[in-house]
Parts: sequence; structure tokens; C-alpha cells
Amino acid sequence: MIISGKELSAKLKAEMAERVASFPAEYGRVPHLVVILVGDDPGSVSYVTGKAKASAEVGIRNTTIRRPDTISEDELLGMIAELNADDGVDGILVQLPLPKHIDEDKVIAAIDKSKDVDGFHPLNVAALWQKQPCTLPCTPKGIIKMLKSAGVEIQGREAVVIGRSNIVGLPVSKLLLDENATVTMTHSRTKNLGEVTRRADILVVAIGRPKFVTADMVKYGAVVIDVGVNRDPETGKLCGDVDFAAIEPKASVITPVPGGVGPMTICCLMENTIECFLRRVKRA
Ligand code: NAP
Repeated sequence: MIISGKELSAKLKAEMAERVASFPAEYGRVPHLVVILVGDDPGSVSYVTGKAKASAEVGIRNTTIRRPDTISEDELLGMIAELNADDGVDGILVQLPLPKHIDEDKVIAAIDKSKDVDGFHPLNVAALWQKQPCTLPCTPKGIIKMLKSAGVEIQGREAVVIGRSNIVGLPVSKLLLDENATVTMTHSRTKNLGEVTRRADILVVAIGRPKFVTADMVKYGAVVIDVGVNRDPETGKLCGDVDFAAIEPKASVITPVPGGVGPMTICCLMENTIECFLRRVKRA
């Protein structure tokens, strides 16, 4: 079974659009997401365009602010302070990566926690690890939704995660743990990686290396979630961290690249924006 993130996200976005359509009557306005793009890295431009397109589909107001990569850290922090204070803004997202002269951690921490739609703010991260209400990071949240939509049982299963980044590997491990999987986290220093991955009932791969996971690293019947977004050095086409063609016949469930985790990440960003909006309007 191939889980289409494209199809699942289309369904979820249509449901969100219906809800959002009722917001003007109920709350006097729709949610407002502000995306800040610094510089013109083609990957970042394409992600930001995708976020604007999804916002339009769902009925969320989207403002994309573009600034040159010469912007100073102080200017960027000043802009975030203004958006934090603006009652008409529900979500703030700073597209990463930022130019080297800007401290990303400082910028993320400057965003009001209640408007942190990416779920990267240290207080949201702390809340996640303490099992308190929080905004979940979009990619891990999307992965759990995909597993559930495919009817994958998570409780009691062996889950192996390759990669331990703050945005994918670490939080998805925590969410799998919260779903009562037995979780093993692996990384670049893991010895005998194949031995560990072959134990996995559920294998989540977030490395950033084209087709790194080969068929011999996966057991028959495993569920394989491919987070990677890479260019295939041979064809120049988008590909994941998993050798899809070789593993698909062995896996019981697998996600494609493109059209898998990527669309679900954007879908969860829309959901997070709506959640931030609702918390704000209900508090007011
Ligand atoms: P990252 O911050 O670069 O982290 C990569 C992780 O992979 C690190 O923990 C690293 O281990 C581990 N790793 C690298 N080489 C390895 C190896 N040979 N064996 C085992 N582990 C290895 O990357 P990221 O931000 O998590 O992103 C990972 C991939 O997912 C990228 O392709 C990115 O574009 C993609 N991504 C996709 C989405 C989406 O929505 N589809 C969202 C986010 C990211 P160490 O910690 O030991 O260095």
C-alpha cells in the first residue's frame, strides 16, 4: 500500500476549508498566517509558494513578507516583535534556513509561542516533551496522521527513526513514543545501522541522502515513511532517502517522494494556523 500524502492532504484541506468558511460569521474573520522569507533560495521560495497556495485552498489569509538576505538580525527581530503585537496575526512562520549572520535559535525564540505555527519555539518543544498541550511540529504531526489514516497499529510495535534533527527525527520519535511504540533513534554514529533498521515494524527515515536506505535494510512487511527530499544525482528528479522501487515490494505500507510526507507537512501547517487562531479568538 502506498500512502498518498497528496490525496490525504487534499481531503483534510477540503474539510478545513469548510470549517474556515464558517469563521467570518462566527468570529468576524479568518485565520491570518504571516510567512517571512529572507533571501531567494529556490527551495525556500518553492516552500513558501506552496504554503501560500495551501492557505488559499483552505481560506486562510496569507501574507508573505520577502526581505533580502542582507537584512540584519535586529531588523528581523523588530519585524517579529511587530507581528507578535498585531492582534490581526494568528501565525508567524520564518522560513528556514536563514543567512549565516542571523541566529536562527534567537529568531525562533522571538516568535510569540501562541503564534508559533511551526511548533519550533523552545516552550512548544518543552511542552511536547512534557506531554502538555502545544503546537506540534508539522512534519512529525503529518507522519502520525499518515500512519493512522493507513490503519497502521503503532502501539507495541518496534519503531526505528533514522535522523535526530530538532524538526523531524527527535519530535517524531517522541510522538511515536506517545503512541506507545518501542522507539529506537539512530543517527550518523549508529553502528550496524542495517541490523537496527531490520528490526523495525515502522521505519521513519529523515536523513537527507538520496536513496540511502536500501532493500536489505528493511524487513518484509515493514511500514516505511520517507521524509527525505533530495535530487537524484542520476536523473536530477526529486527522490527520498529510501530506494522506493526496491523497497516498495517488501514494505506493507510506504510513502512516496514526492507526494508523501511533504504535502502532509503543509496540511498540518494549515491545521496549526487554525488551532492558533481558535485559541486566540476564544481567549479574546
Ligand atoms: P538534518 O537536520 O540534516 O538531520 C539529518 C539527520 O540524519 C542527522 O540526525 C544525522 O545524524 C542523520 N544522518 C546523516 N547521515 C546519516 C547516516 N549516514 N546514517 C544515519 N544517520 C545519518 O536533516 P532534517 O532537517 O531532519 O531533514 C532530513 C531530510 O528530510 C532532508 O532531506 C529534508 O529536506 C527532509 N525534510 C522533509 C520535510 C518534508 O516535509 N517532507 C520536512 C523536513 C525535512 P547526526 O545527528 O549524527 O549528524
